[in-house]
Amino acid sequence: MIEQLVALAKIADIDAEALRSDTELRDIPARIEGLQGDVKKLGELLAAEKHELADADRLLSAADEELNSQGQALARSKAKGARARNMREADAVERELETIRRLTKEREAERETLKEAIGKRRSSVEKHEKEFGEFSNFVDQEKQKADVRLAELTRVREEVLKGRAELVGLVPGDVLRRYDMIRSKRQGMGVAAIHDGSCSGCFVVLTPQQVIAVSRAEEFAQCPRCQRILYSKEALAKFEQGKNP
Ligand SMILES: [Zn+2]
Repeated sequence: MIEQLVALAKIADIDAEALRSDTELRDIPARIEGLQGDVKKLGELLAAEKHELADADRLLSAADEELNSQGQALARSKAKGARARNMREADAVERELETIRRLTKEREAERETLKEAIGKRRSSVEKHEKEFGEFSNFVDQEKQKADVRLAELTRVREEVLKGRAELVGLVPGDVLRRYDMIRSKRQGMGVAAIHDGSCSGCFVVLTPQQVIAVSRAEEFAQCPRCQRILYSKEALAKFEQGKNP
């Protein structure tokens, strides 16, 4: 029985070490995924901003075209004015010219406002484009670093888990299932050493009888509070010493 407990404690050590890799193996891809999601979102915002800018540019060309045709209308009216045969015709042309000039002035003011807005928008787009480029480069670098780290962690994890299968063969199936169930509920820790008469997993104080039972290691004792399988480090060490004097 104590041999089985020794094996179980070793399995628990291996699992605790693998758990550290597992946490990183899980957190790193999640972080990269989050960053890549941010890149995508920023890219979409930038595309929408560029789209708006293109729309505004089109509006500006339309305003330019309108001003151009007003310029042509002005030239036509002036030519008409030169051909006026009497005061009535001359007055009519003058009114036409006034209307065109007024409209032109209004359109020019609108175009100036639009130009100013476009200028501001363009510098904002350029700034965001630069920031986007920098952020996306940063994320690419982080991804590369993460890939290196993940490969390293996978290698370490495989190294750590070597020998686990052999130990598993030494522990009864039902005890292993109990162990797995407990560690799935208890932050990955399925066993706990007793320390100063307490469970080192949850710090509950054990009765002297419980401490003695654990030290004897005649059965798989569980902590009354956290349910972890308890063992005494001293008892296991003594057993190991006895095995390899
Ligand atoms: Zn406990």
